[in-house]
Amino acid sequence: MAIRNIREIGEEVLGKKCKMVTEMTPRTRELIEDMLDTMYEANGVGLAAPQVGVLKRIVVIDTTGEDPYILINPRIVESSGEQTGPEACLSVPGKTGQVTRPNYVKAVALDVNMKEFELEATELMARAVCHELDHLDGHLYVEKVEGPLQDAAAEEEEEE
Ligand code: ZN
Repeated sequence: MAIRNIREIGEEVLGKKCKMVTEMTPRTRELIEDMLDTMYEANGVGLAAPQVGVLKRIVVIDTTGEDPYILINPRIVESSGEQTGPEACLSVPGKTGQVTRPNYVKAVALDVNMKEFELEATELMARAVCHELDHLDGHLYVEKVEGPLQDAAAEEEEEE
């Protein structure tokens, strides 16, 4: 188990476009394992490679804590509907903000065996897919936030 250092807003690597993965190597497999470990350790629902400083088109997502999705070279091929809700990012610690995303997306990606698969997602999972894919093109949710960024702890108190 290897936890990698999560890069934070303001670091140059988070604003860069990531490169396509052309082959699965031991190094890339290790990166994916480390990304999963890092995501779970930080209690996140998703993590993109640039968040650990690697400019590769790889994201991991797990909205349930049980069954991670690994998406290599992912792209959204279909989207519909709309949802507005709170979003947060491991690279923007302690903050949350309202973001509007599609309520449904269909993505095409490669798995760890570089085999193409399709993923249909709605609601939280659709939001996570959009959020993580944005990272691969150097975008953070804060660019899309509606209204001010809130303090995450304050938000939780409000909900109680
Ligand atoms: Zn993020």
